[in-house]
Amino acid sequence: MAADNLYAIALGSNRRSRHGSPEATVRAAAEALGVERLSPIHRTEAMGPAGRGFANAAAILDCDLDPPSLLDRLKQTERAFGRRAGRRWGPRVLDLDIILWSGGAWGGGGLVVPHPEFRRRAFVLKPLAEIAADWRDPLTGATVRQLLHRLRRPRPVDPTGPRP
Ligand code: ATP
Ligand code: CA
Ligand code: CA
Repeated sequence: MAADNLYAIALGSNRRSRHGSPEATVRAAAEALGVERLSPIHRTEAMGPAGRGFANAAAILDCDLDPPSLLDRLKQTERAFGRRAGRRWGPRVLDLDIILWSGGAWGGGGLVVPHPEFRRRAFVLKPLAEIAADWRDPLTGATVRQLLHRLRRPRPVDPTGPRP
């Protein structure tokens, strides 16, 4: 059966859950969602002395849900894994974000796809490049591989912007 929608999802955890370590938690979440492909899981050092490292990965999900329905499902999964509301930058069991959608861009109802921050985030682009390097960002036309390279070698892109 052909599914209507392909999604790139970012998965992150920096707290143990009943599934075990942050890595095991990310793996269990990918299984619970029934993803097609899961990237290798990356460790990212935490910012600040008290924090723990994050486990981050990307996955490709093939389903018949539209973006808002998928967001509901991701939030349900986060809750089922023990995530509580609040504490945006604190330790959390599971964070699931919609990064890209095969339908292009979506905006409204508090949901924005492509994820507004993903072009600046190595912890999203690196794992995503391992499973979907050629997927194009509908806003910039760049592939995931190109976005990752730009992040590694920043160049001025705005000729009217400030100069050193
Ligand atoms: P960031 O979005 O910068 O990664 P976060 O993941 O820590 O931050 P959350 O507290 O998990 O932020 O989510 C805040 C809200 O963002 C969610 O309630 C959700 O409705 C909204 N949201 C908007 N766009 C997206 C998206 N593409 N994927 C997931 N959530 C989104
Ligand atoms: Ca996030
Ligand atoms: Ca989130």
